[in-house]
Amino acid sequence: MDDIFCKIIRKEIPKEFIYESENLVAFEDINPSADVHILIVPKQHIESIRDVKSEHGQLLTEVYQAVNKLVTDNNLENGLYRVVVNGGKAQHVPHLHFHLLGGQWKKMV
Ligand code: 5GP
Repeated sequence: MDDIFCKIIRKEIPKEFIYESENLVAFEDINPSADVHILIVPKQHIESIRDVKSEHGQLLTEVYQAVNKLVTDNNLENGLYRVVVNGGKAQHVPHLHFHLLGGQWKKMV
């Protein structure tokens, strides 16, 4: 696929990964909406939350395990944080991703 996140995952666009596993990568958002703004992205091309199937159950568990690790790594556990998934016209990159937002929120994602 040719979306920007597939290119980052294939390392065609250089980007430092904060976290990488067999099925996921995480990296900083280029245009942060909060003090901490990390994107957790499945390597598999799933276009949107509307395309999530029961076979993706383990992958979604891994997403939230990665979120928990990143919350700890960024000392957010006792502060403000949230996870956002955009869909429809609110989603700009057609590759399922999870925004981890922490600290002061600057604008809507
Ligand atoms: P969406 O609106 O699809 O939920 O969020 C897409 C997010 O991807 C936005 O927060 C945007 O700033 C981020 N983004 C778009 N292009 C790039 C890129 O090339 N690199 C990184 N690191 N983030 C990107």
